[in-house]
Amino acid sequence: MHKHHNTLGLATTRQTATTAADIAKSRPVQPVTLIRPHAAARAARFFVEKFPGRSLYAVKANPSPDLIQVLWDSGITHYDVASIAEVRLVARLLPDATLCFMHPVKAPEAIEEAYFTHGCRTFSLDSLEELDKILLATNHATDLTLCVRLRVSSEHSKLSLASKFGAAPGETKDLLFRARQAADALGICFHVGSQAMTPEAYANALERVRAAIVDAAVTVDVIDVGGGFPSSYPGMEPPPLERYFETIHRAFESLPVSYSSELWAEPGRALCAEYSSLIVRVERRRGDELYINDGAYGALFDAAHIGWRFPVQHLREPDSHAKDMAFSFYGPTCDDMDHMAGPFLLPADTQAGEYIEIGMLGAYGCAMRTTFNGFGSDETVIMQDEPMVSLYIEADEQVASNVVTL
Ligand SMILES: *Cc1c(COP(=O)(O)O)cnc(C)c1O
Repeated sequence: MHKHHNTLGLATTRQTATTAADIAKSRPVQPVTLIRPHAAARAARFFVEKFPGRSLYAVKANPSPDLIQVLWDSGITHYDVASIAEVRLVARLLPDATLCFMHPVKAPEAIEEAYFTHGCRTFSLDSLEELDKILLATNHATDLTLCVRLRVSSEHSKLSLASKFGAAPGETKDLLFRARQAADALGICFHVGSQAMTPEAYANALERVRAAIVDAAVTVDVIDVGGGFPSSYPGMEPPPLERYFETIHRAFESLPVSYSSELWAEPGRALCAEYSSLIVRVERRRGDELYINDGAYGALFDAAHIGWRFPVQHLREPDSHAKDMAFSFYGPTCDDMDHMAGPFLLPADTQAGEYIEIGMLGAYGCAMRTTFNGFGSDETVIMQDEPMVSLYIEADEQVASNVVTL
């Protein structure tokens, strides 16, 4: 057991436990964050081995230094960073990593520091203004990989990224042409939206890419299909990730790009969703509403603000024999907005003082946490057991059963 500081600077006590129920038995007063490095390592190895190109980790999904180290140790060498703080974080943790600054609207000072201090050579852009900004801030560098971000549909995704960034069809020809003149290597990137529920999302976006290349008649060196690879949540169980990889590979192979061009992806959620879960305590029950000690300002931002559902598990020994019923949650702050509609299915006899594990909080969960109103988790425990849900264990079993039937 040793002292450790998390991103909020709070002291945490590290220990290893066997099950979430064991931790509940010690009756923690604050929420407890559980991390499963082996689950993140398995996801990273899956992408490294099976994605038919290079996988960049999108740091914003979870910037925990421990996680970033696990991904590096599992073969992820490239990092998609979006702010100067993320650039500095990865440069400090992993001096040999390759940084790709994939936010299309950057501060000139951030570009300059990333290029001159941290060796970043890859930048994305979606406008002529950003192209000029990058060239000025890098003193007209000639060793840049410039990725032009196209606007694509988010129709197959649970979380849209379609309106904010990306060059529209009428703008791409000129932009690709100008970027080609300035770049050492020219890339095209997009983001289909987070939690894309079908591989078709990528096939459709790659058709947009094809049209843009044909229209601009430029040589393209990198095709970057962005993030959006799904994880599994209640009511949002996606097809196997191999299907996404096959669809992308097929579409990429048929693009009019040079023989030596590279395929990249920027998974965030898919690499870290299974990394964390949270143990919360029920402080009060009011009918079908449970007042728990974490919420919208903690790790449950998405559960509150966009109605995301997460798997839950009641931690009582022996197990409750009551039938499951649908609950909603209130978080601990004084605010009506601190409400998670769910529904979360838990035994009908769940009561105050009992503990619940909320799963799949590794992506956009633990990363969104604040200490608003003085609440939050200050303890982290490293677990060796399996996450409540895993895309990667199932995928392995499918591979095994395919082998048998072939
Ligand atoms: C957020 C983001 C990602 C990661 O998206 P996921 O849906 O978590 O995979 C990748 N690339 C860019 C540019 C992003 O903004």
